[in-house]
Amino acid sequence: MNVTRFAPSPNGPLHLGHAYSAIVAHDLARQSGGRFLLRIEDIDGARSRVELADEFREDLAWLGLEWDEVPAQSSRVDEYEVAAATLAAMGLLYPCKCTRAEIAAASKAMGPDGPVYPGTCLIDPPKGEEPVAWRLDVAAAMARTGMLTWHDELAGEQVARSDLSGDVVLVRKDADTPASYHLAVTLDDAADGVTLVTRGADLFAATHVHRLLQELLGLPVPRWHHHALLLDSDGKKLAKRRGSPSLAGRRRAGEDGKALADQLRAGELPTGITLSAYLHDPV
Ligand code: GLU
Repeated sequence: MNVTRFAPSPNGPLHLGHAYSAIVAHDLARQSGGRFLLRIEDIDGARSRVELADEFREDLAWLGLEWDEVPAQSSRVDEYEVAAATLAAMGLLYPCKCTRAEIAAASKAMGPDGPVYPGTCLIDPPKGEEPVAWRLDVAAAMARTGMLTWHDELAGEQVARSDLSGDVVLVRKDADTPASYHLAVTLDDAADGVTLVTRGADLFAATHVHRLLQELLGLPVPRWHHHALLLDSDGKKLAKRRGSPSLAGRRRAGEDGKALADQLRAGELPTGITLSAYLHDPV
């Protein structure tokens, strides 16, 4: 029995890629007699727009999906703080004041999330009063846990390469955005009882970090299902910022959402859209 989830961030409308992701998660739950959860990931500070969450619910209903909604991230901030304090007490977090530009200039390697943090503040801790982010000392964390593995339903058994992303931020500088995606999503999936984490293959590398956090925090280890991505005619993944047509727009234009969902299930994609051939970025 799979407990799966769809976890959209309300920072822009849902598009066809989200529909595909939600349908995959929904069907993997239903086929096993399990539960499909909706979780609104709304801790992205100023970029989160509350009204979009209602639109998301309407979009999912229009696609013919049924779900159980679990608490939004904004209601779970205290739990993120407790977990961060636990990791800090283990000596695994360090403060960092570096800006994106400083990191880009000093970084020597490109990771899945962009330039890998060069460890500036690990070597030379910030002394001033300015706001700091808290980063995970990944080498120290991996030394503590030893080798870890995780299982993806499509890609098979994986050795956790938690070092690929470098020392990720777990607590952000910005007081409006208390926890980073990595910390919040790992805690939420455990709290919500998710047993099969379904999401796009673009988040494959993030799972290496999540597996490490699960081990450090004593959380249950789910299985994963990273699905292929819908690509536009330029071969790029559909994206809010690239203006992919929204589900809400299709819905308001009178399109039949259930028929669209069945077409996606059958692999019948609208003209110009293809499914990525790769399951995850090879590393
Ligand atoms: N909130 C994330 C997003 O909208 C998804 C996170 C996940 O599925 O792990 O991209």
